[in-house]
Amino acid sequence: IQWEKQIRVSAEIHRDGGMSVLVTGAAGFVGSHVSLALKRRGDGVVGLDNFNDYYDPSLKKARKALLKTNGVFIVEGDINDAKLLANLFDVVPFTHVMHLAAQAGVRYAMENPNSYVHSNIAGLVTLMEACKSANPQPSIVWASSSSVYGLNENVPFSELDRTDQPASLYAATKKAGEEITHTYNHIYGLSITGLRFFTVYGPWGRPDMAYFSFTRNILQGKPITVYRGKNRVDLARDFTYIDDIVKGCIGSLDTSGNSTGSGGKKRGPAPFRIFNLGNTSPVTVPTLVSILERHLKVKAKRNILDMPGNGDVPFTHANISSARMELGYKPTTDLQTGLKKFVKWYLSYYGYNHGGAIN
Ligand code: NAD
Repeated sequence: IQWEKQIRVSAEIHRDGGMSVLVTGAAGFVGSHVSLALKRRGDGVVGLDNFNDYYDPSLKKARKALLKTNGVFIVEGDINDAKLLANLFDVVPFTHVMHLAAQAGVRYAMENPNSYVHSNIAGLVTLMEACKSANPQPSIVWASSSSVYGLNENVPFSELDRTDQPASLYAATKKAGEEITHTYNHIYGLSITGLRFFTVYGPWGRPDMAYFSFTRNILQGKPITVYRGKNRVDLARDFTYIDDIVKGCIGSLDTSGNSTGSGGKKRGPAPFRIFNLGNTSPVTVPTLVSILERHLKVKAKRNILDMPGNGDVPFTHANISSARMELGYKPTTDLQTGLKKFVKWYLSYYGYNHGGAIN
């Protein structure tokens, strides 16, 4: 196979006790950051991504180029491709899989529901099958979502709170993912850690997310739509900075062991864990807009509308005591500081006049 040599080099471990990690969704927002962080500390990393066009594929290509410069090779392919996965595990005995490939976004589920089933359910099962058959069996850390708390308005959310009322098909597929991975844990002994990310933002972020599209529209002098919840209550999110999420992902990989162990011996029952990774300080969307206005030095034109009921929940807020205790997770970046870094990146990447003049 033509990429075989490249992935062997990319998977080389350059520190004692290091791991070799297959990162799915490596050309994505979170995947690219996690891949770089692992590579920097000397772990072996191979990426996998299908470069779909859910949002601007050129941004994914740019992340890929950045990773390549830093020694991370990304294989272009789909997690539904069982043969490709088997080939990858044949070439590299991955100790860990960081599974971040998914169809993200809650609103797009109204337009293309099957893309969620394809990546978040069928793709997940194909990946679990490949992990089950791999030797050694890798430990799996994967991205669930705060959206599993759905219509539950009892904040802050703890991991044991109810998750049986998804508000979107996206949330339903993430919840299904938790059940699917649990099955692979207890039947096949795969080590599984599910991470419920809370609204992740930062440099190299996702253009479909509000903070990103607001920035673009504000700079282009276009109006932004700010949704309001029931009884005109402002929506709020527990915005979590990318570097904090990356630390949570790496803390999870470091504590997840690997099911078969280096000598091929089982080390007791494989763990099944679920953690919230949030910031524990929700901020309303109007406050988010004011912070962006300050950093961009441009006033936003706001359209305030009632939430149309297309999958959004009114507010999110994480209780992170489990992640704090078991992963050493401790978010340190507040929204003000994190958005400053995002805006700095945005302006250096797109320039001040991205897509039109500003006034
Ligand atoms: P992203 O869309 O930037 O990254 C996902 C990547 O996976 C993309 O590059 C995409 O091309 C790739 N991909 C999608 N389907 C694939 C498939 N079938 N095969 C191979 N590659 C595929 O999204 P992100 O924000 O980096 O999210 C990473 C993970 O975290 C996702 O599972 C997402 O659902 C979850 N998550 C993200 C947030 C957030 O705020 N960003 C919040 C909660 C959960």
